Amino acid sequence: MISVQEARELISKYCIGAKTGTLLLNEACGCALAETICSSIDTPPFHQSAMDGYAFSFDLWDGKSHLPVAGEIQAGNFFSGELQPGHVLRIFTGAPLPAGADTVVVQEKTIAEGRSIIIKDEKLKKGDNVRQQGSHTKKGERLLQQGHCLSPASVSFLAGTGIEKVKVHAKPVVRIIVTGKELVKPGNPLTPGNIYESNSFGLAAALQQIHIFPASVELSDDKIPDLKSSITKQLHSDILILTGGVSMGDYDLVPTALEECGVKNIFHKVKQKPGKPFYFGTYKQTLVFALPGNPAAVLTCFYEYIAAAISSFTKIEYFKRSMLTLANDYKKKQGLTTFLKGKTKQHTVQILGHQESYMMDSFAYADCLIELEEEKEYFRKGETVPVLMIN
Ligand code: AMP
Ligand code: MG
Repeated sequence: MISVQEARELISKYCIGAKTGTLLLNEACGCALAETICSSIDTPPFHQSAMDGYAFSFDLWDGKSHLPVAGEIQAGNFFSGELQPGHVLRIFTGAPLPAGADTVVVQEKTIAEGRSIIIKDEKLKKGDNVRQQGSHTKKGERLLQQGHCLSPASVSFLAGTGIEKVKVHAKPVVRIIVTGKELVKPGNPLTPGNIYESNSFGLAAALQQIHIFPASVELSDDKIPDLKSSITKQLHSDILILTGGVSMGDYDLVPTALEECGVKNIFHKVKQKPGKPFYFGTYKQTLVFALPGNPAAVLTCFYEYIAAAISSFTKIEYFKRSMLTLANDYKKKQGLTTFLKGKTKQHTVQILGHQESYMMDSFAYADCLIELEEEKEYFRKGETVPVLMIN
């Protein structure tokens, strides 16, 4: 049996499938840029009113006169003439300033008299309420660096400069097969001997947490022909995740089925808890993760191993590791690296109850996984331990 460290190294050795691709901006949120993006225009593209009011030339205003209103300009329109000295133009937020104007007075600070206005704003300065052309971004300026992970705000920012497509590190295609004759989908009645299938939900949600949507989710019976038929269909992906059927029981047929489908066994079993029967293999460029069926083992393996494999495609680090102080004592089994559900509070971390691999209640509240080293048995309050933040 190999150690957690060896398992991590072996997986990373086979993570070579990264590709770049061009995506429409509305598909690119959550991707890292594979190019540095520069602006092809100034934004705003013209001197723009920031308020509803009147545009005029500040230097030509004497501070008291009635100023004739020369017309109006709505956002989306353009005033082709030049504003005459001593005149104002009714203007609305987002509209371009006419030539001959440099300042906008807000409508609340004016008094209308017939077709003229008087400005009542002692604090008004030249250039007020105007967004200068290029004050946000200048043509040719670097907008976002290669490697930047696109957030909703990044997408909005780029769209605002007219960008339609971006070159990104492609997300891997991920497929899921859950195995087990006993599994029933939520929403259906439980018959004797059955349990609700939860792993595909947990995995799909964990993938969505990092902006990946599984390309398919399939449920297979614990029979070699069924497993092989599912595996053959789903092997054409970047990452295939299976759950259940990798232990030593008579119905744990996943490793055999994988082998018969041509998957190369890289390792099977890791000195860890939960998830000791964890299997990893490859088929051409496809990475195959076969996880034991217990739901807490599945998500633990996802956060500890699969997320890192996905990072090798996307070039995004999803879950941060740090060192925190234990808030309670803990005794674990010697010889297995133990991953525990924990809850952080400033620089300390509390080991939660219900750590067994079939239990998900404490996992639902946890914000991190604590990693307790293989050889040690006793851990004391106040000791520093590595944690992986998962929320
Ligand atoms: P296995 O690894 O197939 O021996 O399964 C270990 C345990 O996890 C058994 O109690 C299974 O019933 C349970 N299990 C397997 N797959 C799932 C699943 N998709 N959802 C919930 N529990 C599961
Ligand atoms: Mg099973």
